[in-house]
Amino acid sequence: GQCSAHCPVGAIYENDQTRPVWNALEEGEKHCVVQIAPAVRVAIGEAFGMEPGTLSTGKLYSALRRLGFNAVFDTNFTADLTILEEGSEFVKRVTEGGVLPQITSCCPAWTDYMEKYANDFIDNFSTAKSPQQMLGAMAKSYYAEKAGVAAKDMYVVSIMPCTAKKFEVSRDDNMSSTGFQDVDVALTTRELARMIKQAGIEFTELPEEEADSLLGEYSGAGTIFGVTGGVMEAALRSAYYLITKEDLEDVNFIDCRGLEGVKEAEIDIKGTKIRIAIAHQMGNVEAVLDKVRQAKENGEELPWHFIEVMACRGGCIGGGGQPHGATDEVRLKRTAGIYTDDEKSVQRCSHHNPMITKIYEEFLGEPMSHKAHELLHTGYQERAVYKK
Ligand code: SF4
Repeated sequence: GQCSAHCPVGAIYENDQTRPVWNALEEGEKHCVVQIAPAVRVAIGEAFGMEPGTLSTGKLYSALRRLGFNAVFDTNFTADLTILEEGSEFVKRVTEGGVLPQITSCCPAWTDYMEKYANDFIDNFSTAKSPQQMLGAMAKSYYAEKAGVAAKDMYVVSIMPCTAKKFEVSRDDNMSSTGFQDVDVALTTRELARMIKQAGIEFTELPEEEADSLLGEYSGAGTIFGVTGGVMEAALRSAYYLITKEDLEDVNFIDCRGLEGVKEAEIDIKGTKIRIAIAHQMGNVEAVLDKVRQAKENGEELPWHFIEVMACRGGCIGGGGQPHGATDEVRLKRTAGIYTDDEKSVQRCSHHNPMITKIYEEFLGEPMSHKAHELLHTGYQERAVYKK
């Protein structure tokens, strides 16, 4: 569970699932595909003596091919897809009067916490699945169709900076949108580093390769999901477009960045004022939720329209599945690696990712369509807390 994500001394380790993945790769009966989360690419190098923050995306793709995966995808692609779904959901709530503030739901440690301890906010949660889950759902539907493989014969592995992602893959029936689990196994960054070492692959010597194109291309907005404030920044870049049909001149939202526990900003979208808050680490989250509760009780104006929450300090770059020893210095280096990836991207906004446009044209229709709901959205419920 997510407890290891918060274990301050790293004494609790993940439940190692490298064996079933080795088995699937060695047996070769299933069509094995893999995805890597944004935060993995700026941290895995540390396991091979590289500096924190070194961008290892191309080497990661090469390593995964050499391990035997049939296709190598990128969670950043479905981070872009999440923005189209979650951004459209937000615009709908603002323009048609839905429940506000909308709260992000892509961090499963936070989702689990909310269902147990803050379930007065269930209706505020975005129903968009996390990028990990969306990739699995698209792999077993859209990609499976194109590759001529039945969903039952697909095996989807994800490489995550996170131990709570292991729980997310089976958190409820919605996580099996094609009748099979969207993602079969979630491995941590550390587990993948172990597999690369076990295979005798010299990671630092690997060439830079590309991801497979169908579910592999990403924008700068997709990659910043790996840091606190990144989901919000990515959402604002596209929400501006969705509301005004125009693009921002400057896509950088500096107020969203940095390690401050709670960040706030007000954005003027051609007369529509949007107030946002970003919280990371659970202690900071409660303070934000209490402010919303208070405003509701007193019948006052809501303090924010949109809130981003990440359980880990710094966001996923500081996740519980990353190489050990994350100090703030390490977190800031990993963060810098993520923003470099954003800046060098040809497209900086999710709605400009050509493969996202293609997937809506060919398969999903439009954001929030019936098909998108079936594959890419979920629901939440109150969950019991077991007390001694
Ligand atoms: Fe996992 Fe990221 Fe949430 Fe941490 S912030 S628990 S790494 S999803």
